[in-house]
Amino acid sequence: MLDAAERALIRRRLQRLAAGEARSGEALAVRQGALAALQRLDQRGFGLCTRCLLEIERSRLLADPTVRWCAGCADDETAAAARRAQV
Ligand SMILES: [Zn+2]
Repeated sequence: MLDAAERALIRRRLQRLAAGEARSGEALAVRQGALAALQRLDQRGFGLCTRCLLEIERSRLLADPTVRWCAGCADDETAAAARRAQV
């Protein structure tokens, strides 16, 4: 689990991302991801994989606080996307 200092750091980073003026494209997706992550942070669901509900690795969260999936699910999804792309 993340400690209080790490949560505070993540909250500040998310708030900075969410405060952007972006209205379209990738920057907007980042902003929406940050807003959703802030909501999860307030609801204590933050840090849990939204796919398998296990804890997301703290190194992943610290590298990108908007991640929604654990490494295992992200790998599964990457593999599935690669299979879809080959069809
Ligand atoms: Zn997962």
